[in-house]
Amino acid sequence: MEEIPVLGLGTWQAAPGEVAEAVKAAIDAGYRHLDCAYLYHNESEVGLGIQDKVKEGVVRREDLFVVSKLWCTCHKKFLVKAACTRSLKALKLEYLDLYLMHWPMGFKSGEIDLPVDHNGMIIPSDTDFLDTWEAMEDLVTAGLVRTIGVSNFNHEQLERLLNKPNLKFKPVTNQIECHPYLTQKKLINFCQSRNVSVTAYRPLGGSSEGVHLMEDPVIQTIAQKHKKSVAQILIRFHIQRNVIVIPKSVNPKRILENIQEGVFDFELSEQDMTDLFSLDRNLRLSTFPITENHKDYPFKAEY
Ligand code: NDP
Repeated sequence: MEEIPVLGLGTWQAAPGEVAEAVKAAIDAGYRHLDCAYLYHNESEVGLGIQDKVKEGVVRREDLFVVSKLWCTCHKKFLVKAACTRSLKALKLEYLDLYLMHWPMGFKSGEIDLPVDHNGMIIPSDTDFLDTWEAMEDLVTAGLVRTIGVSNFNHEQLERLLNKPNLKFKPVTNQIECHPYLTQKKLINFCQSRNVSVTAYRPLGGSSEGVHLMEDPVIQTIAQKHKKSVAQILIRFHIQRNVIVIPKSVNPKRILENIQEGVFDFELSEQDMTDLFSLDRNLRLSTFPITENHKDYPFKAEY
């Protein structure tokens, strides 16, 4: 099975006008893993960036590891293949290297990404993620995707999936929020003990209001000591945990900074790692509050 490259480019909130250029800059900088999703509404521009670099001969399709995600409104079994095909078409690809179930929660199907009731809460579908998984397994068999995985699953949900009778394909990764304010020790231990890799999203703390991970004095001190940027420390933190990491940037300078030798040519000491872990405050940035009443809302479990 293909290995997932440890570092990928995130593409959420990468505006359609900017993301093709960002993808091209990333491929030039050495990124081979691109993290995409139907929900980001920019897959056709990502596809243009890929297409240009393949045409230029900088990379071959098979050198890239392209990920997309099944959105929650397409959890009904009969909708899964069309959703995947739509992403493939936008990305201008014949296959995906990895297709993730974006969340364990199914929403009412239709053209609206976030169907809500009069209280502003999500309208669920009557689907079970085990059934959705079966339809995703069919995508592997049909050759549309090489591997499948999950995202935002807690350990109980992942366990339930791993114990599914007649499971044909195991999830290869669980993509979850992770950074020093939410270190996810228990969930990562659980995933790794079951041979499910972990992919860290929001590794830099995203662009959230009120939380400024990159301004944390402890992280800044570690960065100064190693003569690295704060982002490089935050990325290295995952690499040393055997966690795949997908920082997003549309800025060519930062795209390069996030993958440069900088993150591969040094080691955080045990003390640095302890100091980073000590920042954990179980602070989740991606809480998706309008889905809190959903039967499969993942964040009520301890981990
Ligand atoms: P990140 O933690 O990657 O942070 C992105 C922000 O950091 C942007 O504002 C970016 O700005 C800035 N930035 C990037 N590099 C640097 C740098 N070197 N120095 C200073 N600032 C920097 O947040 P995301 O939420 O985007 O998470 C990463 C990816 O994870 C997403 O893009 C998406 O692909 C995935 N994801 C998946 C989710 C899921 O539910 N499965 C949920 C959330 C994210 P700029 O672009 O201007 O450089």
